[in-house]
Amino acid sequence: MEFALTKNQEKWKKIAKEFVEKYITPEVSRRDRIENAKDRIPWDWIVEADKIGLRTLGISKKYGGEEADILTLCVVGEELAVGDLGFAVIMDQCWKMAHLFSDAMTTEQQEQFIPKFVSDPEATTAIGVTEPGAGSDHQGYYDEPDIDYRTTAVLENNHYLLNGEKHYISNGSMAKLYFIVARLDPSKTLMESGAVFIVPHDTPGFKAMGFHEKSSQRLATNGKLKFENCKVPKENILLGEGKLGELRSRYMRGSKAEAAATALGVGRAAYEYAFDYAKNRKQGGKKIIEQQAVAMMLGESAMKLDSARLQIYKAAWLADQGHPTAPVHSLLAKVNASETAFEACKVASEVLGGASIMYEHPVEKYLRDATSFLHSDGTNQMCLLRAVRAMANNSHDEVFGF
Ligand SMILES: Cc1cc2nc3c(=O)[nH]c(=O)nc-3n(C[C@H](O)[C@H](O)[C@H](O)COP(=O)(O)OP(=O)(O)OC[C@H]3O[C@@H](n4cnc5c(N)ncnc54)[C@H](O)[C@@H]3O)c2cc1C
Repeated sequence: MEFALTKNQEKWKKIAKEFVEKYITPEVSRRDRIENAKDRIPWDWIVEADKIGLRTLGISKKYGGEEADILTLCVVGEELAVGDLGFAVIMDQCWKMAHLFSDAMTTEQQEQFIPKFVSDPEATTAIGVTEPGAGSDHQGYYDEPDIDYRTTAVLENNHYLLNGEKHYISNGSMAKLYFIVARLDPSKTLMESGAVFIVPHDTPGFKAMGFHEKSSQRLATNGKLKFENCKVPKENILLGEGKLGELRSRYMRGSKAEAAATALGVGRAAYEYAFDYAKNRKQGGKKIIEQQAVAMMLGESAMKLDSARLQIYKAAWLADQGHPTAPVHSLLAKVNASETAFEACKVASEVLGGASIMYEHPVEKYLRDATSFLHSDGTNQMCLLRAVRAMANNSHDEVFGF
């Protein structure tokens, strides 16, 4: 078994690390405290990231991207999240669409949408599934027609008319290109009648309704979207009726592992900061790293972060192979990484003592950031429920054996 990253993965890890050191670290705590969500969007970092290929990392080489595999995206995502989770999420929301671009789009759709996305250094993408009445209920675990999923699409001549609302959408209200889920027949379940549409931001009837204000991932946006007779050309349908399940299992199969990697980055940042602090802070006659209570906490964080990373790499590797068990491993990796990161931030708070809540130190921000992935990309409870349901259909060896 080979544990080393490839030369290419090492290269991208280094590029991301240097990007963090050059742009993010010196500025992030000031930017995190800017009052308005709109004013916090780091357009300059997005443009700089574009110059070195980060924004288009997942795009196929044919269209000028790097065609990075899911494992590489996880490595880079973790590194960016060590600098700032919000910025890592902005990039990752572009990477997560890579397989939608390369595998789900028709050649005509690719020609229409990919060059536009690649050539605009400020362009980002977003996926709109969640609605005010349906958060967990859009994930297929409870899939009955009575869920409060209101976005509908009705075919009228050569257009679909979309009506409804979305909320909490990452990169929402700032992205140029949206993938929107709507029900074609509200008398059917979402999995039966849900479809995915390609919706550029300037489509008539599409309204970006601004941003949620929030305590976590403050440099990324969570947008509110509205569709009022939004006129989407018939040929912009990406996944038609009955294919919604494939959105997660096939075309966004890297999503959970990538989310896990970015969550892990926050935990690592908190752990590294606390470790350095403990090597310098002296109490009880010695450096607190030499106090067993502190050393034990940090040792446990190191152990858990490393094992969460190995689980992410395994899930990413399986997803890259298109392995049938990849969804289960990705769900479990996301839960483990986000819980581990949250715990590492709590440990960091304890190691810093009173300093942990002071703005001179980044730990209070790490803690705020780490809460988001307990819920984002599916709540951890729902991820576990979905994983267990999938596991119940297979033997233990089929899921966990090699
Ligand atoms: C930072 C962030 C970014 C996001 N980005 C996006 C995005 O880009 N696109 C998008 O579409 N969505 C996005 N979301 C939405 C996200 O997917 C939802 O928040 C998530 O799925 C949970 O839905 P909810 O918040 O409505 O919680 P709810 O579904 O209301 O859940 C509340 C509680 O009830 C529990 N629960 C719910 N149903 C069940 C059940 N059947 N059985 C047992 N327990 C249950 C949950 O586990 C949770 O504990 C984002 C959310 C966040 C926080």
